[in-house]
Amino acid sequence: MRGGSVAVVGGSIAGCAAALAVSRGGAEKVTVFERADAELRDRGVGIALHGDRYAELESAGYVAAEMPWAPLTQRVWTVRDGESEYGRGIAEQYFPFRAYNWGSLWSELRRRVPEEVTYRSGALVSAVEPDSDGVTVQLADGQRERFDAVVGADGYRSVVRDAMFPGLDATYAGYIGWRGTSADVADLPHDGKEAHNVAFPGGHCMIYRIPDGFGGHRLNWVLYTAPPESEGLHPDLKTPTSLPPGRLNAALTDHLRALVADNFPPYWAAKVLRTPPETTFIQPIYDLEVPHYTSGRMLLVGDAASVARPHIGGGSVKALQDASALETAAVAGGSWKEILEAYDISRGPVGAAMVALARRMGAAQVENTPDWSAMGKAEFDGWWQDQNSGSDRNSGFGGHSMKRP
Ligand SMILES: Cc1cc2nc3c(=O)[nH]c(=O)nc-3n(C[C@H](O)[C@H](O)[C@H](O)COP(=O)(O)OP(=O)(O)OC[C@H]3O[C@@H](n4cnc5c(N)ncnc54)[C@H](O)[C@@H]3O)c2cc1C
Repeated sequence: MRGGSVAVVGGSIAGCAAALAVSRGGAEKVTVFERADAELRDRGVGIALHGDRYAELESAGYVAAEMPWAPLTQRVWTVRDGESEYGRGIAEQYFPFRAYNWGSLWSELRRRVPEEVTYRSGALVSAVEPDSDGVTVQLADGQRERFDAVVGADGYRSVVRDAMFPGLDATYAGYIGWRGTSADVADLPHDGKEAHNVAFPGGHCMIYRIPDGFGGHRLNWVLYTAPPESEGLHPDLKTPTSLPPGRLNAALTDHLRALVADNFPPYWAAKVLRTPPETTFIQPIYDLEVPHYTSGRMLLVGDAASVARPHIGGGSVKALQDASALETAAVAGGSWKEILEAYDISRGPVGAAMVALARRMGAAQVENTPDWSAMGKAEFDGWWQDQNSGSDRNSGFGGHSMKRP
């Protein structure tokens, strides 16, 4: 990569980390193309990073202690129990994660992108055209620029992936994530259990505190369930998309609110139902895997390469690990071919394993939920082990270790 030029399409978590990686790997000219006009920092949702994965990424230089976070150590699974305020806990799990605010995690990563990298906001890439030893990036405004290589960090609807594997799209998993954040943290239970998972027939809702980026906290929740099929709630869910607040149609909102009122313990129902509509949104859940992370001089990182359902809590970890592996390959490789081959070999199998685990988790936690309220500790532990294929702590929950053979 030494002396070469690299385009990075997408300037979010994966894109900033990839720009850092290729700079450290020796690229001389690095340009990030990000379609969003304004800064991305207002996306205030929560991101949980597994503590062990964090430690590896910290020593690789992709995250740092000063990035604001809140500790999570125990996760309680709760079901409604009549009118009992907090419901009934059915299980408690060791949950060694660090809770981040997406916006502040992104700003910290953005701040670490070296000054010599050109970060172009409002730059929509409409196509990438590979040739034998480079790639031309075509912008929507008509500009064209040629680079030695292009990194697709442009999320699950990637134009770079489309050039590599035409027609290979993310597939809708059949259910959605309804997310929200609020300032409603003052009376959270002081039980030392920082993560709460409300379980109900047909889904679950993760609730935890995240830093607000200004020294305080916000409540963050994400509820997974299938929308009713009959109402055709959104004509377009099967096409990769996300629905910002303004497009959340009333029928779907009413359905979700009724579901919460009927199935959540009253305390947690109030927390979700009091969340201001302008800080809630819907993300359809997708699966995506690719045959290879590289093709010619094009390569993929983050969600552009693979999308694992969020139950695994590892999407950002995977994006940051992709970048770290790219840096390692760039430093070790003597040619573009060597770099790209080494990167594909190191990341392809991890992406596929995460997607498979996340599918099992989605099937168990949303598509075919058990009778949670009848579960004792032993049943719960067995159910959890089944999703992890009975394997050990390296199962991939929270992301695989980079040290894994
Ligand atoms: C409901 C939900 C909960 C999640 N929870 C967690 C969690 O707890 N922990 C965790 O680790 N991960 C979690 N994730 C996953 C995580 O958010 C992503 O995996 C991670 O942020 C990596 O994203 P990315 O940078 O690859 O893609 P994105 O964030 O999608 O970024 C892609 C960027 O590319 C830009 N772009 C796209 N197309 C173009 C174009 N043509 N030209 C220019 N720019 C373009 C976009 O504007 C965007 O900024 C969750 C995901 C969901 C949906």
